[in-house]
Amino acid sequence: MARRETPAAGPGSRALVVDVIRSAVSISRVELAERTNLTQPSISNIVRDLIADGIVHETGSTGSVRGKPRQLLAITPATRFGVGFQLGPETVTCVAIDLTGGVVGREVVPLDDTDLSDQLAERFDDFLLGLDLPRDRIEGLAVVAPAAPPSDRTGPPEWAAVRGRLAERLGIPVLVENDAAAAALGEFWTRRVSREQAFGSVYLSAGVGAGLVFGGALFRGASFDAGELGHMSIMYDGRPCPCGNRGCVERYASMTATVDAARAAGLAIEQKTVFSAYDAIAHAAVSGDPDAFAVVDQAAGYLSVAVTSMVNLLDLGRVVLTGPGMAIAGSIYARRLRAHLAATAHARHRHEIVVELSAQPRDAAGIGAAALVVQASIAPGHTTGMPGADRA
Ligand SMILES: [Zn+2]
Repeated sequence: MARRETPAAGPGSRALVVDVIRSAVSISRVELAERTNLTQPSISNIVRDLIADGIVHETGSTGSVRGKPRQLLAITPATRFGVGFQLGPETVTCVAIDLTGGVVGREVVPLDDTDLSDQLAERFDDFLLGLDLPRDRIEGLAVVAPAAPPSDRTGPPEWAAVRGRLAERLGIPVLVENDAAAAALGEFWTRRVSREQAFGSVYLSAGVGAGLVFGGALFRGASFDAGELGHMSIMYDGRPCPCGNRGCVERYASMTATVDAARAAGLAIEQKTVFSAYDAIAHAAVSGDPDAFAVVDQAAGYLSVAVTSMVNLLDLGRVVLTGPGMAIAGSIYARRLRAHLAATAHARHRHEIVVELSAQPRDAAGIGAAALVVQASIAPGHTTGMPGADRA
């Protein structure tokens, strides 16, 4: 097997070292050098800086190798924090996490029709006061919403305005991101997924999205549009989609499509919003209502076809199902997907393809937003690259 080139120590090396410590929980400098292919002097320099910056600390020694005790290194949790705001139709979910991905605070507050940046700035101040978190320990704020363009891309002017006004008013870095991509990074970060793993997440909400993390960084594509799983066609002459294509999986498996399917099947649904109607169907499905189960199970089948194509295309090793649509009936989707992958995934005889359910599917995008802030702060330049670009 060809040995990888030893990368020169550069800005990407710091991100690499942080990421390996994060996913290992605790690790010695010797193991760090082995895992990163960086030289011992490079590791010593990077670790010294990380300790000085309060990002990493020594947790004590474990055994000894050739008479020398090995000091273990770990990420220091409660020194700095990232805040994420997940915008819903009528509410904002506020989340704060520490450097290890641990959630230190969460609240959901209503939004009204007044200026969005004014409301978010007030919510931010209230949230920190409630948690008793000092302002100077906050690394930044990331706001996520279904249609929000990533900060690095030129998006609609209203998003640039929200971002600019918030940054000016709060005096901290402000990022904007779409919810599915943020959720992928959040799941990657809080699950301590190793950067060697090709990792994807499926975000089920009013639409369907996905996020991909390769080499520890979100994969963005040519124009920051990677992960549009919802518009993967599963039927050549299927239902027309506003995107211009036909048979997009979003038209069959999104929460919106499932509510429509349930109504068409004659299920009595009184709830007005997509979210509350979908939750009622999901509750009925897991409580033994055969008609509701059939509707959700069929949506899960459609979704599994698209996700299997994504797994095959990218040879993923691990997929997490997340988003508000997975909060109640996630097990129905996970079962369907596991069965479909076990029967049809191209790489099924070569490696395991792990399917997991998010531990916090409703808050995943907000947690991911906070993770985006933490990653941008302790491993700068690492959130938007093409896979491996930071290590070139
Ligand atoms: Zn479409």
